[in-house]
Amino acid sequence: MTWGQGSNIPSRIKDQVRRRDKTCRLQYPGICTGRIDEFDHPDGLAAQGQQRTTVRNASEVQGVCEPCHDHKTELQRQAGIANAIATRGSLSKRYRDHEPHPGDL
Ligand SMILES: [Zn+2]
Repeated sequence: MTWGQGSNIPSRIKDQVRRRDKTCRLQYPGICTGRIDEFDHPDGLAAQGQQRTTVRNASEVQGVCEPCHDHKTELQRQAGIANAIATRGSLSKRYRDHEPHPGDL
């Protein structure tokens, strides 16, 4: 788990999201703890091809637990790789070795 910990979310927004969401918003069956450990961009900046940016509003993120966030990140990573392969024919060695978040693909 590397992505998320360095994201630019002001603590006042984290507090707002914790109060609003109260429990994990992803709720993947079998792994969800229900806690809000981390913060996730529900729209997937990666899917939009955007780099992570500073979060300015609580509406941009949702509270999620770490297991769910890891699971979602993995799903997005796999989708990003599949998309990159479909688009470019292959992935460069650099991308494979670093296993970037799909937003960085
Ligand atoms: Zn969860």
